[in-house]
Amino acid sequence: MTPEQFREHGHQAIDWLADYHERIESYPVGTRSRPGSVRASLQSAAPESGEPFELILRDLERVIVPGLTHWQSPSFFGYFPSNASPPSILADLISSGLGIQGMMWATSPACTELETHVLDWLVDLLGLPSAFRSDGEGGGVIQDTASSSTLCALLAARERMTGFASNAAGVIQGGYKDNGDFGNLGDFGNLGGATLVAYASREAHSSVTKAVKVAGIGEANLRLIEADDEQMMDPAALGLAMDTDAKAGRRPFFVCATIGTTTSAAVDPVRAIGAHAARHGAWLHVDAAYAGSACVCEEFRGSHDGVDLADSYTFNPHKWLLTNFDCNVFYVRDRRALTDTFAINPEYLRNAASDAGGVIDYRDWHIPLGRRFRALKLWFVLRSYGADGLRRHIRRHVELAKRFADLVSASNNFELAAPQRFGLVCFRHRGDDEKNRAILRAVNEGGSAYLTHAVIDGKVALRLAIGAVGTEWRHVAGVWEAMEENDE
Ligand code: PLP
Repeated sequence: MTPEQFREHGHQAIDWLADYHERIESYPVGTRSRPGSVRASLQSAAPESGEPFELILRDLERVIVPGLTHWQSPSFFGYFPSNASPPSILADLISSGLGIQGMMWATSPACTELETHVLDWLVDLLGLPSAFRSDGEGGGVIQDTASSSTLCALLAARERMTGFASNAAGVIQGGYKDNGDFGNLGDFGNLGGATLVAYASREAHSSVTKAVKVAGIGEANLRLIEADDEQMMDPAALGLAMDTDAKAGRRPFFVCATIGTTTSAAVDPVRAIGAHAARHGAWLHVDAAYAGSACVCEEFRGSHDGVDLADSYTFNPHKWLLTNFDCNVFYVRDRRALTDTFAINPEYLRNAASDAGGVIDYRDWHIPLGRRFRALKLWFVLRSYGADGLRRHIRRHVELAKRFADLVSASNNFELAAPQRFGLVCFRHRGDDEKNRAILRAVNEGGSAYLTHAVIDGKVALRLAIGAVGTEWRHVAGVWEAMEENDE
């Protein structure tokens, strides 16, 4: 592609995207694609000769679009939202076009410094503890997902308790037992063979379970703590579980509290949880993947009471802060905890700036070495919308959620399955699980809207997560009409 062709096709691609967004309501929100149907429409082998760009765009429309669920549709209400705003799309395009690799300050200083800077902006914008700012001992880093951040938090917590990664010998005497027991760890941080134990609510996201599996802690050493009837972790049960483990010679080392659980956006009592973590010297990680964005509005900051006790905190601008996937923010109060865990220094990456120690090398703050220039899209978003625009975005969705929850509460046939929180409404038909599954199936197959489900208090519930950029009341009201139509 010549530079002139690049310019021409670039215009075509943006036109195509602009048209896609303009006509997005004409597509069925959930895909009707059947397994294998996309592949069946693709060429059986990569083409021998290059093909015209127009042909590729035509196949994008013909083959790929029918196999999509339209997450940016204003009638997409499944899972949690995945906002893609125009400024963020353009910034991501520019990031691709620049094609830099920001693994270290030296490989493109602007990538590192912009990231540090906008993450400091966000601390202030969201009213987060100033300990997360980079001008003290803490700091923030952009990762791909909340799952990765939670894994990093768990690994840093283990490091703080065991000195495992920084022990150059790196040999676990006597092998690693299936149950996660460190066996004869012996020298590692004076653990003396104690088993490490992690804690989270039974309502916590599955990424906590994944993290303990990946880290080799073992699922047997993750305690999923009871939640109350509002799906919030019971801090007394947490304290008891930690005390019981400690008395038995095990080492509580990691606690994950959730602000905005995946099922129902419940908020764990972080302050009480943090007190138990502190008693045991355990790391407190706060997962606010979805709800964190709400803190741009002061009225939602009450949900974050106790975050000042956290060692780490994560949230996803890619869910609800107008920044397209992927963009996860991860803060720590002590960045050395990350560098102790992840720092490497091979000769081929050595450079004067890193050696002098005055710069941040984000490669040492997480698992991958290479990193995209994701800060660019956050910067574009924060500058394009301003704090005021972001607040309006969040408040509009919460307002729509309240209106829908009012409809449910006033209905004879439907009821709330959990209190409406943030932009999420969990509700159900008063009939049985099968009735609820049938309604969900019918609404989604109808194509006018897309919702997902969860199980709350042992019963199926429907989740309406409001968060797409273009959602208005008419789209939300459309779901209610579809519910009533399918309640026969
Ligand atoms: N934590 C919570 C509370 C979530 O709701 C989710 C996803 O919905 C995640 C973590 C995982 O997010 P990610 O896809 O960024 O890993």
